[in-house]
Amino acid sequence: MKGLAILGATGSVGASTLDVVARHPDRFRVVALGAQRSIGRLRELVVRFEPDVVALADPGPAQELAADLARAGARTRVLAGADALTAIATLPEVDFVMAAIVGAAGLPSTLAAARAGKRVMLANKESLVMAGPLLMQAVHEGGATLIPIDSEHNAIFQCLPRAAGACAGVRRVVLTASGGPFRNRPRETLAAVTPEEACAHPVWSMGPKISVDSATLMNKGLEFIEACLLFGLRPDQVDVVLHPQSIVHSLVEYADGSLLAQLGAPDMRTPIACALAWPERIASGVEFLDLVKVARLEFGAPDLERFPCLALGQAAARAGGLVPAAVNAANEVAVEGFLAGRLNFTGIAKVIESVMTRGARGPIGSIDDVLRADREARALAREALP
Ligand code: NAD
Ligand code: MG
Repeated sequence: MKGLAILGATGSVGASTLDVVARHPDRFRVVALGAQRSIGRLRELVVRFEPDVVALADPGPAQELAADLARAGARTRVLAGADALTAIATLPEVDFVMAAIVGAAGLPSTLAAARAGKRVMLANKESLVMAGPLLMQAVHEGGATLIPIDSEHNAIFQCLPRAAGACAGVRRVVLTASGGPFRNRPRETLAAVTPEEACAHPVWSMGPKISVDSATLMNKGLEFIEACLLFGLRPDQVDVVLHPQSIVHSLVEYADGSLLAQLGAPDMRTPIACALAWPERIASGVEFLDLVKVARLEFGAPDLERFPCLALGQAAARAGGLVPAAVNAANEVAVEGFLAGRLNFTGIAKVIESVMTRGARGPIGSIDDVLRADREARALAREALP
């Protein structure tokens, strides 16, 4: 029986995780749930999964939930504040941590879970993009196991050789990209797209931030950085191809010409179940692929002119050091601005580019460097908003 902490339990990845976990009550126990503030959803989850503890970043909603649960006689404790998320990630009863908070807010708890030697199931790509070398070091020193949940990186994880040192035969990895909702939109119409259109992903159902990232292709830019860090690859060993069906989740090419791919229905429950059971396999509830029905798999080159965010992500990967942290922070501010109607869609790349040219650079010495680069980039991005 493995004890689980699910950080970001009320989000899209959180819901998919709980769906898989609920299918295997004999294998997993939900010890802790973490979220920002959505207490309506948390109340339901407490009744259903009876966790020992719930952590909420926002103190007001936490107090309200604690009072509710006390009235109902529930035995679940409620903790409040950003530190509470870190605390539940390191509980001794917790073996596995699902890091599914969105954005930079997920960094402290993800790092803490790694230092505490947990199995870290990493959906929160922003924490890796910001502080990749520090997070990988924490995994190593803490004796943690890091399993990527991002479907592309989970696919690569599945296609890589298992034997230590065998990576020598890997020539490159290929990340697939659906192309998002605006794959076929003419460039001149992109400035006018609305947040609703940007969040309506043709294949994946996800939270609003990553949906916008998928529409700008910044998601693929972040994933490019993520791939370099996770698998120790140089940027020239990572390629991106468009694949609108999102059936091939990514590929690994070997020196002998073999190209190994992982295929499956576009449903996050597959990588989540893979990470939960690894190295075993368990049912995830995902529909099995009918290849005859799929019939056709298409691949194409991404258009970096129409989607400059991908090129910005690739440039940040090449620059390394603090640049990815600055780009990530600028993107978070720009996406918030776009969702709030303050910035148009094509403005997102412009804000990121302006921060990239003026923001922090140089190597990452410590977590303080990362947090400073993040703060500075946010300030520069806010200045750049119209
Ligand atoms: P979401 O918006 O649906 O959910 C976000 C979760 O984070 C919520 O539970 C929210 O309460 C919590 N949260 C937000 N700010 C917080 C804070 N300050 N403190 C504590 N909790 C906070 O997002 P999502 O789509 O589930 O994505 C989560 C992460 O997984 C992101 O990093 C995303 O890039 C990554 N990811 C998601 C998908 C997907 O299919 N949704 C796929 C790959 C990777
Ligand atoms: Mg992905």
